[in-house]
Amino acid sequence: MAELKKKNLIFFGAPGAGKGTFAGALKEVHPVAHISTGDLLRDEIKRDTELGRAASGIMKAGKLVPDEIVAGMVRVRLSQPDCRKGFILDGYPRTVAQAGLLDHVLKDLGMTLDRVVYLKVPDEVILQRLTARVSCKNCKAIYNKIFKPSKKDGVCDVCGGELIQRADDSLETAKSRLKVFYDQTSPLLALYRERGMVFEITELELARATKLMLDELEKE
Ligand code: ADP
Ligand code: ZN
Repeated sequence: MAELKKKNLIFFGAPGAGKGTFAGALKEVHPVAHISTGDLLRDEIKRDTELGRAASGIMKAGKLVPDEIVAGMVRVRLSQPDCRKGFILDGYPRTVAQAGLLDHVLKDLGMTLDRVVYLKVPDEVILQRLTARVSCKNCKAIYNKIFKPSKKDGVCDVCGGELIQRADDSLETAKSRLKVFYDQTSPLLALYRERGMVFEITELELARATKLMLDELEKE
């Protein structure tokens, strides 16, 4: 397989845009390191490290973990040998300040950024996805009305209990998450646009690109 010319990427997209799915599909074709700061932070919490203990309360409150902490974590991860073949940054940077810190880290490591891939999904679709999660009042089983529906609408497959929506999956919360994303991301996108690095991909193209990739992989 030909070596990728542009291999160091940032994936941008609202929560629920499908960054993780696309990163997974791309990885099938080209083995690049998938670096999600959310995953890295959850891993620190699981291992009960000092960093994890510092981050856990902040994450529970839905706030951003301090820039220096996240930048340090990303620096350590990018220093690992697998990132030399290319990387996808998922969920990082989120602010202009974080982008500045990332520039420093990359410079220190002798790496460059090649593309910022912006997954552009209509707000209605995002809101629908973010609010599609329901759980059983009784046994707490989790369903998603779009991706993992129960057999009977509103009724738990496991215990027959009533399916309800959690407060933090409500339309209001979803709207505010989306607003936070746009507020923080617009200046960031503008910055990378100025650098001529942004590559926009719509959901239709995404579905097609993913299918094309998978078709290719299934060929003899
Ligand atoms: P979400 O899309 O809900 O933000 P993530 O898994 O990307 O989910 O992140 C979970 C949490 O981890 C965030 O709410 C935030 O507290 C923290 N986090 C992740 N990435 C960053 C980042 N780049 N800067 C600061 N905090 C971050
Ligand atoms: Zn149940």
